Amino acid sequence: MLDLTPEVEELWDELAAAFERVMRSGQYVGGPEVAAFEAEAAEYLGVRHAVAVNSGTDALVIALRALGVGPGDEVVTTPFSFFATAESIASVGATPVFVDVDERTFNLDPSLLEARITPRAKAILPVHLYGRPVDMDAVLEVADRHGLKVVEDCAQSFGAPWRGRKTGSLGHAGAFSFYPTKNLGAFGDGGLVTTGDDEVAKAARMLRDHGSERRYHNVMLGYNSRLDALQAAMLRVKLPRVDAWNERRREVASRYEQLLAGVPGVVTPEVTPEHVFHQYTVRVLGGRRDAVQAALQQAGVATMVYYPVPQDRLPVFSHLGGACPVSDRLAGEALSLPIGPYLDGESQRAVVEGLAAATT
Ligand SMILES: *Cc1c(COP(=O)(O)O)cnc(C)c1O
Repeated sequence: MLDLTPEVEELWDELAAAFERVMRSGQYVGGPEVAAFEAEAAEYLGVRHAVAVNSGTDALVIALRALGVGPGDEVVTTPFSFFATAESIASVGATPVFVDVDERTFNLDPSLLEARITPRAKAILPVHLYGRPVDMDAVLEVADRHGLKVVEDCAQSFGAPWRGRKTGSLGHAGAFSFYPTKNLGAFGDGGLVTTGDDEVAKAARMLRDHGSERRYHNVMLGYNSRLDALQAAMLRVKLPRVDAWNERRREVASRYEQLLAGVPGVVTPEVTPEHVFHQYTVRVLGGRRDAVQAALQQAGVATMVYYPVPQDRLPVFSHLGGACPVSDRLAGEALSLPIGPYLDGESQRAVVEGLAAATT
């Protein structure tokens, strides 16, 4: 659905030079490229600390552990996300508690948070889904009132602003993914933990390297979750382009909004200045989503369903209970159309023509 090669072509010489620089350096895990990327990412995101790790999933796990979340704790989160969100909570021994979402934003509905907070609650884990920031004012207000930590899942929101700051700088910690299809993508797996807290940053640095303060002085059980120097070097080339790419994604979204205006039974996402459109996801009403997707497929238009099964309905979490009817409904309505910084108007018109034909 997304062709990743145009941005590689555009940056070919710089990427090739970065690749060569690392090959010649003789240092392939951690090291100066990673330290430089961490400093540049921290500056861009407006955070005190950025700790590079091996994936977005590890970033979530390490952020939670660095904040002291563990067995017996509950972490309140959204059911409507990629599995890694709740998986990371369970991986540290805590229990995910699901709060239903807002059909307009696909994000967790902050007005429902309070009712799901028990004395065991330790943290809230909002996801800025599809690149649209959660209402962080509301989330932080509830967290403050109950003394809870906030870990932002920013895997889909790199560069998204919220009230003059960036997602990942608002909670106690942020977790980013550099999986190739994300708004800032590496050439393999990668991730980042952000925090303004010195102790949390120190814990995250130890956890990513086998719980060691310095080599062979392991003080806790950690992980092998360091970022490769090659990935860091490539990410350093791409980081300065993220704002322009996000702006182009927003333009693509605006064009979709105009083109889709007359198509019945399709609800488009609001185009806001905060939204960085990792996905452009419409709702297809009337129980027709799967038929529409199949018809588009026939017409040669690839679309995706993120996510057909909410996390609370998956086998490992379905015993936890807690009804999330909006999330259940969205799982049957959501349809993500092709989007990327390089998607041209002609391709978009073809997608919308196919969609219009399939819905009528
Ligand atoms: C991609 C993603 C992750 C996991 O990131 P990886 O780098 O693939 O481990 C976590 N949460 C959300 C919302 C994601 O989209």
